[in-house]
Amino acid sequence: MRGPGKPRAQNAHDHVQARDWRWQLSHRLRSARELGASLELSETERAGFEVKGLPPVAVTPYYLSLMDPVDPRCPIRLQALPHPQDVARGAGEREDPLGERERSPLPGLIHRYPDRVVLLVAADCPVMCRHCNRRRRDPRELLGASLGPGMEGAVSYLRGATGVREVILSGGDPLTLEDAALEEILGRLRTVPHLEVLRVHTRAPVTCPMRVTDDLTRVLAAAGPLYVITQFNHPKEVTPEAALACGRLADAGLPLANQSVLLRGVNSDGGLLADLSRALLGVRVRPYYLFQLDPVLGSERFRTPIEASMELVSGLRGRLSGLGIPTLALDAPGGFGKVAMARSAVVARTRTTVTVRTWQGDLVDYPDTGDPDLTCQAWP
Ligand SMILES: *Cc1c(COP(=O)(O)O)cnc(C)c1O
Repeated sequence: MRGPGKPRAQNAHDHVQARDWRWQLSHRLRSARELGASLELSETERAGFEVKGLPPVAVTPYYLSLMDPVDPRCPIRLQALPHPQDVARGAGEREDPLGERERSPLPGLIHRYPDRVVLLVAADCPVMCRHCNRRRRDPRELLGASLGPGMEGAVSYLRGATGVREVILSGGDPLTLEDAALEEILGRLRTVPHLEVLRVHTRAPVTCPMRVTDDLTRVLAAAGPLYVITQFNHPKEVTPEAALACGRLADAGLPLANQSVLLRGVNSDGGLLADLSRALLGVRVRPYYLFQLDPVLGSERFRTPIEASMELVSGLRGRLSGLGIPTLALDAPGGFGKVAMARSAVVARTRTTVTVRTWQGDLVDYPDTGDPDLTCQAWP
């Protein structure tokens, strides 16, 4: 078997292995030594590996193969390789920026809105994103062994919560679970008669597209109506492999939508976002949200000023099919829900914060330096 450092298949035998999602997960690269075998690591990336308390690093051989081997500004590298600032606390940053712990009536279940809940069914992800807003990865907040008492508790909660119509599977990445486990979870949810739509929120089509097998697709389609929500952040991620995964899901009748995270230096560019949207529409994925970065610990290096974010998205109108225009959403810190960002949502601002009005009328502060040096590349 080849070493983990060589991402692309070298011969027919390897080719078969690299298409196996379990092989991808078991051959993830985690250290400077492993990643340095394929990439010319920068000083900063190397320093990132050295810092204490670094959130875990994991990169599938597939995702590694999308990286530029020499350029540390590569948008794929920026999303997955560590940085010394990953452990720095920027202004207003928290471990749990969306107050999910307080909105959790039982472990693994987040109930913030009247009609929909999130179930955290898996701990692992194929790739550990540096911008993850749940990077705390506290096992006590997970349903954990999803087939055990955790799932039992969640189902009995949902039976009593008759206003809930929608359940979102998240984690971690739900598609790190085996098909049988997913089938069991989805089957249990379908015993609750008032649940209408199920959603699976996953980055697997981006970071490990070979996970989307025919068998998995059948399991998901059998539990429909089920929406698959992906997280493509850059057009480079819409590869032939990703297109195959999305096509398979779409052919099975599973509607697809995408949530991108707006990341400075990765996708904070109007023309690039337009390219991303076009690429997604081409693989039958409808752009849904573009998220203003949550103020999670260690994320400042990616944050864009909200004014620049709004300008970027409003600039898409007219230049791009309306089908390709996502809603710019700011998830109000503390767990007050998502706010569709338009000037009218901003009720006040200081040099360091912007105050937004939520759907329930709460006024919530978001840390926003408005630093003019941090602008996005809007439009020429
Ligand atoms: C984002 C989120 C949802 C889903 O919100 P939509 O606007 O319907 O996509 C539901 N529950 C929680 C806790 C969330 O964070």
